[in-house]
Amino acid sequence: MAYYGHRPPADAQFLRAIFQRVDKDRNGHISGDELQEALSNGTWSPFNPETVRLMIGMFDRDKSGTITLDEFGALWRYVTDWQETFKSFDQDNSGNIDKIELKTALSSFGYRFSDPFYSTLVRRFDRSGRGSITFDDFIQCCVTVQMLTDAFRNYDTRQTGWITITYEQFLTLIFHQKTI
Ligand code: CA
Repeated sequence: MAYYGHRPPADAQFLRAIFQRVDKDRNGHISGDELQEALSNGTWSPFNPETVRLMIGMFDRDKSGTITLDEFGALWRYVTDWQETFKSFDQDNSGNIDKIELKTALSSFGYRFSDPFYSTLVRRFDRSGRGSITFDDFIQCCVTVQMLTDAFRNYDTRQTGWITITYEQFLTLIFHQKTI
């Protein structure tokens, strides 16, 4: 969205104006396609559809599959907060997050991973094949890591970093993730 930079107060009138711009067909609901079109990475590439689906799923409280004006405020805050986070970790202002920057970001969120694992993360979430992660893919990466960590912790009740689970529990854990 072109609206991030200035961060004006998110009052009702302001949110309504943005909502109406994003809601292209003016039917009062923002669809996945409309949200995807409104969001951009500052590049010409379309915003990651999986991240769009993930965000609609998080803020679509009435489960209509779309975002209404009531739901839009929380979604807007979420996107602008991620934008700020992304900018603060893009230390060289390249517009994407490389492996070192990703390590700094996830370490500041409290994760402790090895260097080879950061390489795995970049390979998994780098859709452009440039060895770095764009804004939309960064959101998907962080949310996926968080969801899988939460799923792991459900089994790791003593916080040892080790779990013993059955084959089917493992598959269930993976298939319950919305972002994979
Ligand atoms: Ca960077």
